[in-house]
Amino acid sequence: MLLVNGGEAMVDAPVLRTGGVPLVPEGFVWPDCRECGEPMQFLAHLPLDEGAVAVFFCQSDPGMCDDWDATAGANRAFVFSGGLSAATVPAEGATMLGAVTALRPHSADTPTAEPVLGRLGGEPDWIQNDETPDCPSCATRMAFTAELEEGSDFATSANFGGGGRGYVFHCRPCSEAAFLWQT
Ligand SMILES: [Zn+2]
Ligand SMILES: [Zn+2]
Repeated sequence: MLLVNGGEAMVDAPVLRTGGVPLVPEGFVWPDCRECGEPMQFLAHLPLDEGAVAVFFCQSDPGMCDDWDATAGANRAFVFSGGLSAATVPAEGATMLGAVTALRPHSADTPTAEPVLGRLGGEPDWIQNDETPDCPSCATRMAFTAELEEGSDFATSANFGGGGRGYVFHCRPCSEAAFLWQT
């Protein structure tokens, strides 16, 4: 499935979206970047059958931290399940994208006039080499979940190094998720 621009969404909409506020379980602590210590930016909410993946990456000083790397500690992806509600966003820092954009699934077989902003399921379309991460808990190859394009609007899109692409993975048995991007 392609993901096309589905228009502006509410900040806490329980839909597939980039930007806005993450939906989190009770007791959630907003992730800080392991490299610079600043709060990360919330990037995407991806509903799954069993919950949702929430993706964060460090944008405190773009280009300084290894926010493209699945394991450097400058990004985080969580699998959340159960009752989720809108997180409290830290008062300081580059914590939110410039806009909230719904991503609408669209069959790859049907032409669309809407900008393609990502893809759901199937196989990752790597720009560079295959960098499928291993699950940090069970060490098996993680399942590809979704791809996110950088987008064309500088004010509102994610920063993947200029025309890059983000990749989201998860391990269902372990409720682990991972994120990386390539350019
Ligand atoms: Zn950082
Ligand atoms: Zn696992």
